[in-house]
Amino acid sequence: MNFEVFILGTSGMMPLPNRHLTSAMVRRDGELFLFDCGEGTQVSLKRLNLKWKKIDSIFISHMHADHVTGLPGILMLSSQVDRDDPLTIYGPPRLKEYVDANRRILDMYINYEIIVRVAEPGIIIDNDEYTVSAFPLLHTKPCVGYVMEEKERAGVFNVERAKELNVPMGPLWGKLQRGEAVRLPDGTVIESDQVMGQKRSGRKMSYVTDTAYLPTIAEAVNGSDLLLCEGMFTADMEETAAEKRHLTASQAATIARDGQVAQLALMHYSPRYSDWELKYLLRDAQEIFGPTVLGRDRMSFDLPLKD
Ligand SMILES: [Zn+2]
Ligand SMILES: [Zn+2]
Repeated sequence: MNFEVFILGTSGMMPLPNRHLTSAMVRRDGELFLFDCGEGTQVSLKRLNLKWKKIDSIFISHMHADHVTGLPGILMLSSQVDRDDPLTIYGPPRLKEYVDANRRILDMYINYEIIVRVAEPGIIIDNDEYTVSAFPLLHTKPCVGYVMEEKERAGVFNVERAKELNVPMGPLWGKLQRGEAVRLPDGTVIESDQVMGQKRSGRKMSYVTDTAYLPTIAEAVNGSDLLLCEGMFTADMEETAAEKRHLTASQAATIARDGQVAQLALMHYSPRYSDWELKYLLRDAQEIFGPTVLGRDRMSFDLPLKD
């Protein structure tokens, strides 16, 4: 089952010729999730040739223009297809006001239901396959990070073991695979864990922007296969970063290292750095956490199942 992450924009504050404003998309088993929606999001979606008009959920970190100015266009263009399911948008308290005002003033034609929910810290989506949770960040406005995590999958069914225990092939095998105990014709009870291997972990992706450094972020993103994280400034700008409540690339790397993530992709770069100067952000980060890449617009990641 696929779990793909697409970076749609990597710029903070203002869009640049090669860097649209911050946004990322996750595509998992036919569902689409959008994280933030800066200016240019649609352009990246178009260039990636993604069929994106049935986004299931949108997660907004905070109400700064560089994270929400692409939203009206996305909502409007999503009406070009028919859909039955509503679109749910999660974010800070004033998000609903922003969405409602845009719909009203722009006279948007929208042929589907939009639900806006406040992303309170904690689990915001919980179904059979995955959870999405929000956790608090420290910015100049209420801001949250997001974690999308698959639930554990059942272990592998050991056919040989089942045969040894004289469990006849058929419905009893299915029961054991679903975690149920079964009783054999001779009265013996076989527990599911006698024939099922260890549970297999799912995949985890975390999205963190904009924030001052907080040690709690590493806990929230712990064990992520991929962390998309703001790395707005070089290490020498740490004071400015703290004042403006943003992260340096070194701080992003510290979070990745402490949270034992598998890979870090930096994003939300300050426009003070030209494209070729971004290598300094990468250098700073890699001194602390080797598996760091410079996130670039339209870069994609395929998170494989581990076993
Ligand atoms: Zn920002
Ligand atoms: Zn901001």
